[in-house]
Amino acid sequence: MIRQNISLKPYNTFGIEATASKFARFSSVNELKDILTETPDKEILILGGGSNVLFVKDTIDELVLLNEIKGFEVVEDNLDDVVVSAGAGEIWHEFVMKCIEKGFCGVENLSLIPGSVGASPMQNIGAYGVEIKDVFEKLEALHIQTGEIHTFTNKECEFGYRESVFKRKLKGQYVITQVYFRLKKQPNLNTSYGAIDTELAKMGIANPSVKDVSNAVISIRSSKLPNPKEIGNAGSFFKNPVVDQSVYQKIAQKYDSVPNYPAENGAVKLAAGWLIEQTGWKGKTKGHYGVHKLQALVLVNYGGATGAEIYDLSTEIIEKVKAEFGVTLEREVNIYL
Ligand code: FAD
Ligand code: NAP
Repeated sequence: MIRQNISLKPYNTFGIEATASKFARFSSVNELKDILTETPDKEILILGGGSNVLFVKDTIDELVLLNEIKGFEVVEDNLDDVVVSAGAGEIWHEFVMKCIEKGFCGVENLSLIPGSVGASPMQNIGAYGVEIKDVFEKLEALHIQTGEIHTFTNKECEFGYRESVFKRKLKGQYVITQVYFRLKKQPNLNTSYGAIDTELAKMGIANPSVKDVSNAVISIRSSKLPNPKEIGNAGSFFKNPVVDQSVYQKIAQKYDSVPNYPAENGAVKLAAGWLIEQTGWKGKTKGHYGVHKLQALVLVNYGGATGAEIYDLSTEIIEKVKAEFGVTLEREVNIYL
């Protein structure tokens, strides 16, 4: 059922007030198809958990659709691995917990990421050295214009660093309905990234299980990141920039402690949070919004901020970082201007 003039505040983790002129939910592909036949212009905006969006405009004129397709099924059971199929409307963290309960390995480092399974391929979600492309098998998506279901393999998704074909050349053309993951039956743990090993040591665990790694990730994340239920935010607002060696060398001459990580083709990944911190923005507020005190990559709404205020703050930060380091930060969050 399509409803009119619905507040989107409960549907975005930034807690921004915006109104959907038209709003509907669907919990199956057939329901989605029915809604689309009632929408001749096919102008739609899909929402999962709303944890990676910023509404800058007050009114969304596209039909806002909330994906609630559920389901979790092992569709292939092999000697060493399984293929799990999940409905796009499953909550990502609940999906991870179900995989761990069943003893499947591969998504534990991605514990506690907010949002839905269906949005996970959009930006190839990643944390602690793992990205969904590492476990991704294929997905099914409905082509909005024709109503046909198309399958995309790992290669066809053109995954990159917080990127996929759905954020670039196929932007706005598909609704992802089902995602398939290939997970290992034997643990192949990756604990060397970030503070996982230290956290496991703190927990007194020498030989961690898949569940232990997940618990360590949950514990680190809970200590550093604002819980969107308490403070409005959309996680990292900016991507970590990947720059040429020459740009990195220039920065390192002035700041010998600049964190840097090797990227593809000799390039260098910098930590956007660190760059922002050097400009003095970490923990700064502008009344009811600002930059989080523990993680400068996260912009926060303490209550009542508008999307335009958050967006303008992000522009100010981009300009400051550009002036200090010559590096242009790119927004990771999907902006609706
Ligand atoms: P939404 O915000 O609802 O949508 C995001 C975009 O995807 C929108 O453009 C939307 O139109 C589109 N979309 C959503 N569902 C579909 C679909 N079914 N088909 C087609 N398009 C769709 N991200 C990381 O990568 N790593 C992290 O560690 C991480 N940590 C976070 C921590 C916090 C506290 C928060 C608030 C966010 C974090 N994020 C992280 C960002 C966010 O959680 C992810 O990007 C997540 O995948 C977004 O899912 P969602 O369902 O909320 O997407
Ligand atoms: P962190 O551990 O303090 O590290 C800061 C940055 O350095 C991270 O952004 C990370 O890049 C990079 N980094 C650290 N160790 C690295 C290594 N061994 N190799 C390459 N890069 C390394 O980061 P954090 O803020 O606490 O976040 C922890 C993880 O959760 C990170 O992977 C981060 O991406 C993820 N996260 C993402 C979001 C989001 O919204 N996208 C929000 C919160 C946390 P990467 O970001 O490339 O990993």
